[in-house]
Amino acid sequence: MFERIVVEEEARDHPRVERIIGRFPQASVISTESIESFGAPGCSSASGSATTLLLGLKRGIKLRPAPRDYGVPGRPHFGLTHQYNCIYACDYCYLDGYFTSRAVVFHVNLEAFGESIAQQTSLAPPDRQPWFHTGEYGDSLALAGVFGDVDYFLNLFDGLPRATLELRTKSVRIDPVVQRPALPNVITSFTLMPQAYSRRYERRTPSIPARIEAARRLVEAGYPVAIHLDPLVYEEDFESAYRELMVQVDQRLSTARIAYITVGALRFSKPAFERVRAVHPRSGLWANEFVRSLDGKVRYFRPLRLWMLRKVKQMWQEQGIDPDRIHTCMELPGDQEG
Ligand code: SF4
Repeated sequence: MFERIVVEEEARDHPRVERIIGRFPQASVISTESIESFGAPGCSSASGSATTLLLGLKRGIKLRPAPRDYGVPGRPHFGLTHQYNCIYACDYCYLDGYFTSRAVVFHVNLEAFGESIAQQTSLAPPDRQPWFHTGEYGDSLALAGVFGDVDYFLNLFDGLPRATLELRTKSVRIDPVVQRPALPNVITSFTLMPQAYSRRYERRTPSIPARIEAARRLVEAGYPVAIHLDPLVYEEDFESAYRELMVQVDQRLSTARIAYITVGALRFSKPAFERVRAVHPRSGLWANEFVRSLDGKVRYFRPLRLWMLRKVKQMWQEQGIDPDRIHTCMELPGDQEG
């Protein structure tokens, strides 16, 4: 998986670094003063590939408020940015738009994130306890067995029962979660799309039936799960393809056992749209018209977008999902209802 591991000198003695290096005996290991100067995502000189792993320390941690309408309303949401990039290769990945490098970055000093999480939780009133997300800049579970971050966070949230941790994923590597007693405040959320679309646009990811099966195992173990139909992608058979997906979910998982669902149509910031399209010029994603909407984001033409949102919400409700459990993700305020 990783052919080259670059380690920041200051992080070299951290026990997680030794453990991670030990998982990749074939990889060459290089030291650097700062992973930022070595092509960490976000650097102008970055050019690392997904076979490079950068290990370093995160400094000056500030918990990052999640984007508007990113999760369940009514709670403050924060993204945990201890990891950048991912081993999968989705055509619509906005990280291709944010970063000029596909190198995977892992910040090993999770305890510093833990202190910030505990502090944020202690400052919040009981009725507005924070909700923390991993997976905004990568996949929460794909490398959890290597990094040990999910083990660390589950131990932490075991002691913070009123705060919530959400692990967003397309992975089926659920062992770090499912092998320990259920924590009601840890939600694993799976991004799904019709299997044929996924094969076209979500390269290297586990199949949709495998993801649904992973969700089923978690529910069986007592963990809450959530589903993201985000991004919704439009193809000619949109309605029948998404209906089939929902039936599959209901048959394997029972929709009654899903904590919540989000729906959100494919969208990008304008610069990300240009870069993602340049990285995947032949992707079928661009077959439909995209327009710049009022908030500056590039989206499907509004009537199509609203039809897609309305249709999937209606189909979920036909599948027995209460409308209060369906949330629209990052749409324009006037378009929330679809
Ligand atoms: S799983 Fe998420 S982070 Fe990984 S390539 Fe796909 S969209 Fe990007």
